[in-house]
Amino acid sequence: MKRKFETEAIRTQIKRTEFLEHSSPLYLTSSFVFEDAEDMRASFAEEKDRNIYSRYSNPNSSEFIEKVCKMEGAEDGFAFASGMSAVFSTFAALLDSGDHILSARSIFGSTHSLFTQIFPKWNITHSYFPFDELDKLEEFVQPNTKVLYAESPTNPGVDILDLEALGKFAKKHHLILIIDNCFATPYLQQPIKFGADLVIHSGTKLMDGQGRVLGGLTVGNKESVDKIYRHARITGPALSPFNAWVLSKSLETLGVRVDRHCSNALKVAEELEIHPKINWVKYPFLKSHPQFELAKKQMKAGGCVLSFEIKGGLAAGRKFFNSISLLSLSANLGDTRSIVTHPASTTHSKLSPKERADCGISDGMVRISVGLEHIDDILEDILKALGEV
Ligand SMILES: *Cc1c(COP(=O)(O)O)cnc(C)c1O
Repeated sequence: MKRKFETEAIRTQIKRTEFLEHSSPLYLTSSFVFEDAEDMRASFAEEKDRNIYSRYSNPNSSEFIEKVCKMEGAEDGFAFASGMSAVFSTFAALLDSGDHILSARSIFGSTHSLFTQIFPKWNITHSYFPFDELDKLEEFVQPNTKVLYAESPTNPGVDILDLEALGKFAKKHHLILIIDNCFATPYLQQPIKFGADLVIHSGTKLMDGQGRVLGGLTVGNKESVDKIYRHARITGPALSPFNAWVLSKSLETLGVRVDRHCSNALKVAEELEIHPKINWVKYPFLKSHPQFELAKKQMKAGGCVLSFEIKGGLAAGRKFFNSISLLSLSANLGDTRSIVTHPASTTHSKLSPKERADCGISDGMVRISVGLEHIDDILEDILKALGEV
């Protein structure tokens, strides 16, 4: 029988050394040695699957990659120094000058900046499609469109994109479907099942989950990953062995952590929904979420992030932020510590007001990444701060 997710998360491990250590050791080494001249030649000729230099591969990143491949149902992957280096290198490896990216409009702020500020230099263009009009997607496809790109749930609007519909569309139009699965993690959602070719993660968020390291990876089919590997081997965005070791350890507890993140987040969402000072709350597993049924179909639970709007706009929002005491004011998410963010002045401040409005980000919108503190303490802090508004 195929092992279950939680078991693979713990038992996927690189070969033990002669010391028979129980938990995988850290391989802080930049290079590896050859036995003799023939070994050296054969290794460089890629006749052997072995480590040569940590810019290419390292046992710690190999363990991390293998684990995520099993979790996502992917053939292969490559691990990067951050989520953004995974996003950048994936596109840079697969696209040529003149290619076009068709992307959902609501995406991570730096990915948007990549499309608008970096890729035009190489004549790589993009268009955005609205997440809730997939039936009109055909109108956005150009003869040079090569990649279909999306995140689900989106940040910070927690809108849900229909992964199965995107998968079918990509197949029909011969596009490479890339999904940034950072908000869901493979524990809640596996986009490859729905037809994604590649899945990107920022390991910095729920994968580490404890706010310690930056990291990222791309997993998917062998053919695309091989192109990404060739590109990364030359350009050098590899994940450090130490961060890979931390991330692989963190994945051992991903399931239990994400379960608690989700149950805490649902309780916060339900409490805010009935609060008189709140205009609206959005959380994928609230019945009031416009894509509740879709979320239930493709996700195991709703994730750690919810967004809401306080009555009274920006001024009320500022009061709320200044009255919070337990929760952190920070830009990260998926941490053990609960975090409140004001997207309009932080993560999405580089977007124009119109671009923000197109992504559904209002000035009074607050994003909470619900952590693992006791739910009573999280709720008390939020409700007390709302009382001050
Ligand atoms: C944080 C994030 C990234 C970028 O990851 P870094 O590790 O910060 O570079 C990409 N996509 C999403 C959805 C994110 O939340």
